[in-house]
Amino acid sequence: MRDREISISCETGIITYHLERKRVKNLNLRVRRDGQVFVSAAPIVPIGRINAFVMEKAAFIRRAQERFARMEQKTERPLPEISDEACRAAFTEIMERVYPAFQAYGIPMPALRIRNMRSRWGSCLYGKGIITLNKQLARKPEACIEYVVVHEFCHFLVPNHSRDFYALLSRHLPDWKERRDRLNREEPETEQSQESGQRAGTGTQNESPERIDS
Ligand SMILES: [Zn+2]
Repeated sequence: MRDREISISCETGIITYHLERKRVKNLNLRVRRDGQVFVSAAPIVPIGRINAFVMEKAAFIRRAQERFARMEQKTERPLPEISDEACRAAFTEIMERVYPAFQAYGIPMPALRIRNMRSRWGSCLYGKGIITLNKQLARKPEACIEYVVVHEFCHFLVPNHSRDFYALLSRHLPDWKERRDRLNREEPETEQSQESGQRAGTGTQNESPERIDS
């Protein structure tokens, strides 16, 4: 039986696992030496229960992947690649969860772009209804991804980083500072910031990121 590949967003970032349905008594999870995660479950076990099980094991999975990656250091094997599809699925899920609070302001559901960016976690082209998220977010805790999403949604209402912006952000995500700090802790030189509004208004400065200073 062919296995299915499933991606879920957890505390340690997005985890992709191969689900094998077979006649086993328990839920079994193993991490292969190449970092791939395999779960076997009986056909009757609901997918929600399997996902919850994988989430509970998120820290274990990450530790095992890191351990295997260290063992393979001679060949410099990186952590397993997270596919664009997996990123899109996980980021979309978070955007859909956040959206209702902003739908109330009459904002249409933004389009999602995913890119590898060096100095920004996300950006918002509010005139075009586009939110761009950094693919590297896939390795971050879900709470941090949610922070970036809410931050970018707030730009549809306040396009700058004024006092009004932070008041709005605090209203929608009271603990945003902790989440931001957690996001940036691992990579202190990479601050979250985004394109400053309409391209027309920023000339050729699009590539030079605007930093969040608060
Ligand atoms: Zn911003």
